[in-house]
Order: sequence, then structure tokens, then C-alpha cells
Amino acid sequence: MSKHFQFQQIGIVHSCYKEKFGIPRQPGLVTESSAAIELLPPYNRADTLDGLEGFSHIWVHFVFHQCIQENWKAKVRPPRLGGKKKVGVFASRATHRPNPIGLSVVALNGIRIEGKRVFIDILGIDLLDQTPVLDIKPYLPYADSLPNATGGFAPTPAPLKPVHFTELAQNRINVYKEQYHRDLRPLIEQVIGQDPRPSYLISKLDKKHGNKLWNTNVIWTAKKDGLWITDIEFPEE
Ligand code: SAM
Repeated sequence: MSKHFQFQQIGIVHSCYKEKFGIPRQPGLVTESSAAIELLPPYNRADTLDGLEGFSHIWVHFVFHQCIQENWKAKVRPPRLGGKKKVGVFASRATHRPNPIGLSVVALNGIRIEGKRVFIDILGIDLLDQTPVLDIKPYLPYADSLPNATGGFAPTPAPLKPVHFTELAQNRINVYKEQYHRDLRPLIEQVIGQDPRPSYLISKLDKKHGNKLWNTNVIWTAKKDGLWITDIEFPEE
């Protein structure tokens, strides 16, 4: 008889990724991505983080809150295998699992105390905005990094595709930087360079796509010579 455990949500993610489409498959692939984990009461105490500043990376245990589903499947189709071949769910990092729990190692970019609010700034994430956080632990290089480990059907990251910007798109990036003091270009290059399209769309050219990053919608299309950013929509002040 399976046991049921009660977990407490200790934090919530404020992420640059406002929708699942476009989030990389694993952390560390989009180094320009950033988020803040806000600790929730009663865990929003700065002393819970004493000593964490000495670690460059942290493990984040979280809930795939947008994948909560009744049933689970024994086999899944990892995107790395083109969505065709199936592997066992426990041989994958799929989001649809018996317990929708994710595990990501991310770069620690600082700790911020703002009145009663405690934030842990992180970089190189694969976490959707508002992701519930169950636990945070320091990454221990002596125990966690295994240079001789083998990677099965996912030995290396998928290659980045060339990303080009139309003049209009570059002008929009310049306006956005003036208004919001954030250079979107490197983040867009890394996110769209992952080619977030589902495998069945990968060969389709000239179809319009949109990715919500921060408070923008990045419009792009695939051409023969790569992925073209054609416009960037955002609220003008
Ligand atoms: N690194 C984690 C792991 O291995 O457990 C996550 C890997 S999973 C393949 C990464 C994907 O999870 C992202 O591309 C995104 O589509 C999805 N994701 C991220 N946060 C999510 C959330 N809160 N709810 C549902 N899906 C989420």
C-alpha cells in the first residue's frame, strides 16, 4: 500500500519564463535565464540561509504544478528522441511522473532581504513562473559532480541553432533596454536557439511563433538559414 506524505511548500519561483513553451529541458542550458525563489512564511527567515552564500550552486526540489494529472504512464516519449521512441518514466526527466517533483541545479546569484521578504536569486534555470518550491540544498561538488558518469540516451545537450534578428527586432530590443534596463538579446539567443518547437513542427518553415519572456512576447519564425526574431511586443511606458 503506497504511503502518502505531507510536503510543505517553502517557496515560490518568480521566473523570466511566463509559459512552459521555450523553457529549456534542463538547467544550465540558458545561462542568461534568471529567477528569484521567494521563501514563504514561516520559512521566510534569513537565518535559514546562513552559510548558503559559500556555495556557487544550489539544488531546487519543486513541483511541476502545471503538470499535475490524475494518472501516470510507465513509458514516456523524451523530446531528445524526437518524440517517437519511448523510455521508462524513471529513465527520463519527464514532467509527467507519479509524483510531479522536479530537481534542478542552478547557479546561486545572491540572497536579498526586503523587509519580511527573503529572495534567493538564481541563474541558468528551467523553472516556470510561480513554480512551488519544496526544498533547497547546497550543491556539493565532491559528492554531486561525477565526471565519469554516462548519460544514456542524453549524453550531451542538443546543439544550439543560429538565431538572427531583423532590424525591427533589434530596434525593439534597444527600446526595451532604454525602458526596462534589461538587454534581452543574449536571453533570446539562448532560449530560441534551443528551438523550442515540438518535434512535429521542427521541419516547418515560415510559421509564426511567440515566446513569453519577462513581460515581452518574442515573435520568431524558422527559415532555411536559422531562426529569425522578427518582433518583440511589450508594454510601452
Ligand atoms: N531539471 C528538472 C528535472 O530534471 O527534474 C526539470 C526537467 S523538465 C524536462 C524541464 C521542463 O519542465 C521545462 O522545459 C518546462 O517545460 C517544464 N516545467 C518547468 N517548470 C514547470 C512547472 N512548474 N510545471 C510544469 N512544467 C514545468
